[in-house]
Amino acid sequence: MASLTFDEAKTRVGVVRDLRYELDFDLTSSESFRTTTVVRFGADEPGAETFLELRPTRLISATLNGREIAGFAEGRLPLTGLAGRNEVVVVAEYAYSHVGEGLHRFVDPADGEAYVYAQPSIAEAPLFMACFDQPDLKAPITIRVTADPSWIVRSNAAGTQTEPGRWEFAETKPVATYLITIIGGPYAEIRDEHDGIPLALYARKSYTEALAENAPELFELTKQCLDRYHELFGIRLPFGKYEQAFVPEFTWGAMEFPGLVVFRDEYIYRGPVTDTERSRRASIVAHEMAHMWFGDLVTMRWWDDIWLNESFATYMGYRVTAEATRFTDAWADFASERKIWGYGADQRPSTHPVAPVFVADTESAFANFDGISYAKGCATLRQLVAWLGDDAFFAGLRAHFDKHAWGNATLDDLLASLSAASGRDLSAWADKWLRSPQVNTLHPVRTADGFAVEQTAPAAYPTLRPHRIGISWTSADGVRQRIETDVDGPLTAVGELAGVEMEDVLLNNGDLSFAKIRFTPDTDLARLLGRLESPLDRAVVWGAVWDAVRDGEVPAMTFLDLVRSSLAAETHVGVAEHMLGFARGIAVNRFLPVDARPAGQAAVDDACEAILAQATPGGSLQLAAFRTLISGMTSAEPVRAWLAGQDLPAGLTVDDEVRWTLLLRLAVLGDLTEAELDAEQTRDGTARGAVEAARCRAARPDAAAKAAAFEQIVRDRELSNRMLEAIGQGFWRAEHWELTDAYVERYFTELPASQEWRSGYLLATLGGAAFPATAAYTSTVEAAERMLAQPGLNTQFARSIADSTDDLRRAVRQRNLR
Ligand SMILES: [Zn+2]
Repeated sequence: MASLTFDEAKTRVGVVRDLRYELDFDLTSSESFRTTTVVRFGADEPGAETFLELRPTRLISATLNGREIAGFAEGRLPLTGLAGRNEVVVVAEYAYSHVGEGLHRFVDPADGEAYVYAQPSIAEAPLFMACFDQPDLKAPITIRVTADPSWIVRSNAAGTQTEPGRWEFAETKPVATYLITIIGGPYAEIRDEHDGIPLALYARKSYTEALAENAPELFELTKQCLDRYHELFGIRLPFGKYEQAFVPEFTWGAMEFPGLVVFRDEYIYRGPVTDTERSRRASIVAHEMAHMWFGDLVTMRWWDDIWLNESFATYMGYRVTAEATRFTDAWADFASERKIWGYGADQRPSTHPVAPVFVADTESAFANFDGISYAKGCATLRQLVAWLGDDAFFAGLRAHFDKHAWGNATLDDLLASLSAASGRDLSAWADKWLRSPQVNTLHPVRTADGFAVEQTAPAAYPTLRPHRIGISWTSADGVRQRIETDVDGPLTAVGELAGVEMEDVLLNNGDLSFAKIRFTPDTDLARLLGRLESPLDRAVVWGAVWDAVRDGEVPAMTFLDLVRSSLAAETHVGVAEHMLGFARGIAVNRFLPVDARPAGQAAVDDACEAILAQATPGGSLQLAAFRTLISGMTSAEPVRAWLAGQDLPAGLTVDDEVRWTLLLRLAVLGDLTEAELDAEQTRDGTARGAVEAARCRAARPDAAAKAAAFEQIVRDRELSNRMLEAIGQGFWRAEHWELTDAYVERYFTELPASQEWRSGYLLATLGGAAFPATAAYTSTVEAAERMLAQPGLNTQFARSIADSTDDLRRAVRQRNLR
């Protein structure tokens, strides 16, 4: 199926105008569904031609102005001989999706109830309708649905049930096809209202109780964020209502459908979670809400500008979370998680500018939903705001919304609005920050006459950038001092620091810029961490140490020693939890050679024990440390005791989540029988339980279990997205290298065949979660390179394999460091 190219989209937008859709869904069958699409549009040139996209299992009928349309092929329906006004009617049968693309159908094992939701993604709207699937052909849409009378059905616009099982929704404002959705099923619903805006939350029926428990916090966040956006943007929520649905097996974190945001239902907590997780959820709620303005009201013209959506929503999401909710240190969470993802993505061979100059087609666009578009773009905007100031930034944004509301806009349009508001020419700034990939490193340097900041860039990407940064240090009298200054070029002398006595200097204090930082040789990192009051600044230090490890400048054991000596003093759970994750998941399991692992493991265990010894019972730090401790246990006995509720740290209970963490550890240690696993899956009875059980099955250290799991990864066509991810993660365990090394070569030679029948998202999962990341050997890198050299690889598959291989090279370099 050809993916839509930029050129085709550009031609088509010149042909089609005054576009409207009417959709009528028949969801009464569980086998497949039927959609009648009516497309009405004008064409300026009589006799012009264009095409609609649809990917049904069966095209039943298609007419243009009453005549039958011939020539449907490759997902495209040719429209020739257009009149001034045109009406296309397409009736077709489509398949339900099980991988979150198109119209996803899910049956809840807890009660047998069925649920659907539409996820058009970048190019999957044609899996449930006929459309011109490009972001700059926005149109009002009227939706009708026939479904099981016991269901509730919701969509972007408000709707009513006109007779049992028949739903009619008001016409929407103009929206892009990637923003159309419906949800249907016996969803539990909780309603509220704020400032005249109707609010609602939805989750599947078996989550009714959990939804009620989560609702107060979710509504509170929603209201806080709405108020803050109204203040900042000066334009009210454009889509009338604000509903949030938590749906099963959603592949992304969430999606900003106007009026009806959809989230993965893992965000409805059903047991204790840490504040890191709650803060992340808050920033996602705020992120999706920001899209109502960035993306939904003003939409990018083409996929080269997804950063206009994602960078802005991420920036506003963290900012509004920090300013309006109880998660006031949200930027520390960003610095210790998302930003590190951004640095990683920006230093890979696949790096690209935040704002790429050209994206050829929708398939290439998909690959750019990455750490660069989200995290680097967000950090870049934070830097822009530090440079321009809040007043100019928001004045520019308001002018941008006013000018382009309900339409489309590009990077140039945005820069024009910001330049007009600030009186500054942003073109040079944009060239360096938005049009040039890769990251700079800032080094503090003592010079003969004072203090300077040296800036470097990788040889292949020599761009140096202007950075507005904070610099902090401890003065001779032991007090922490800070200034903010502009750095540009290879060496910037900081005049005001000439002759100042400074100890434990920290560059990028306050984390205003996107740059790697290094320390002066005399810096004592443990002492520096102890001197920093702000969790955000401590996150900057931890992040810098971690990226020096990734870069192979510092041995992994140095990071693990710092974890052992200093992490227990960290009071912000986000920083502690993410560093424990890097320590256990990457430093020990991938970066250390097998014989050095016990020493690394002991450093992490010591940190966990120290945190547990002082943590508040029932608090986030305790839970984070306990989970990490479990995931490294080398003996089954204490794990068994915890599972039985014995010897637990005070305040901790074994909820479903902790229970599966314990069971996974037993599975990895070879102490979980098939019968016990079956019993646990039956006891849990949820879809989540089935996924966790599959992860445990794949994680058992016996040849038959590994063989069965590998067979599923390679050949099982029925696996859902979640299952594939879990089995991949279960299969590759650092502890099981003797059992799985033989599969490394097979992974690279046998997997490409599955691109014949797997979708891009599943292929990306194969290249990510199911990648042999723990087999950090030169031979693995070589096998990956041989695979990547093959012609005809799916773009997303190749991209994910290439990125995982780049991580693997870093791991191999670390293993050889000692
Ligand atoms: Zn987003």
